[in-house]
Amino acid sequence: MRVLLIEDEPYLGQAVQEHVARGGHAVDWVQRLDEADAALRTVDYGVILLDLHLPDGRGLDLLRTLRRRGDKRPVIILTARDQIRDRIEGLNAGADDYLVKPFDLDELVARILAVARRYGGNPNPVVRVGEVEIDLADRHVRRDGRDVELTGREWAIVDQLARHPKATISKEQLEETLYAFGAEIESNAVEVYISRLRKKLGRDFIRTIRGLGYRLGG
Ligand code: CA
Repeated sequence: MRVLLIEDEPYLGQAVQEHVARGGHAVDWVQRLDEADAALRTVDYGVILLDLHLPDGRGLDLLRTLRRRGDKRPVIILTARDQIRDRIEGLNAGADDYLVKPFDLDELVARILAVARRYGGNPNPVVRVGEVEIDLADRHVRRDGRDVELTGREWAIVDQLARHPKATISKEQLEETLYAFGAEIESNAVEVYISRLRKKLGRDFIRTIRGLGYRLGG
C-alpha cells in the first residue's frame, strides 16, 4: 500500500517513514499542505497520515477540503496530547482514526492496516486465490499451506491486488507502487515482477486482462 505522511517534525516524520516502510508499505513524506494537496491529486494513496499543525496551515482544513471533494480515502490524525479539541474536530471533519503523540510505531502500522481494510470494504484480512492464501494483516503468503517468501516489491504488488480482489489494476497503478520505493524502475518492471510472482505462486495466481491490467486469478 502507498501511504502519504504529512508531518513537519523531522524526527517524527523520519521515524514514521522508516518504520512504516519496513512494514512493506511505500511512504511519501511531505511537510507542507500545498505539497500534500499536489500529491493527493496525482497518487492513489491507501491511507493518509495527517499532522494538524503544518507551516502553511491547518491539517483540518485539508481534511475538510478532501471530504468536500468527495474524497473518502482514510485519514489518521496525528495529534499532540494537549489538543483534545482538535481530535474531536478532526473526527467530526471526517477523520477515520487518530493517534496521540508520542505513539507506538507498531500501533500506528496496526491502525493503518485497520482503516485500510475498512475502507476497502474487506474486513477479512485473509484473501484466498486457489491454493494461495494471503494474510494482509500479518503479511504472510502461503501456497498449499507452505510459507512463500516475497521481496518487498513483490509483496507491494500482491498487497495492491489483494486489497481489491475483484478489480482490475492497471499497469500504471502497479508501476506507481513500485516507484514509491524510491528507485528507478525499468519500463518492463511490472511484467518482470508479475512473472516472478507467477513462478512462486502459480501461473493462474495473477491474470492478465489484455489492455486493462491485472487481477487476481481464481
Ligand atoms: Ca506540526
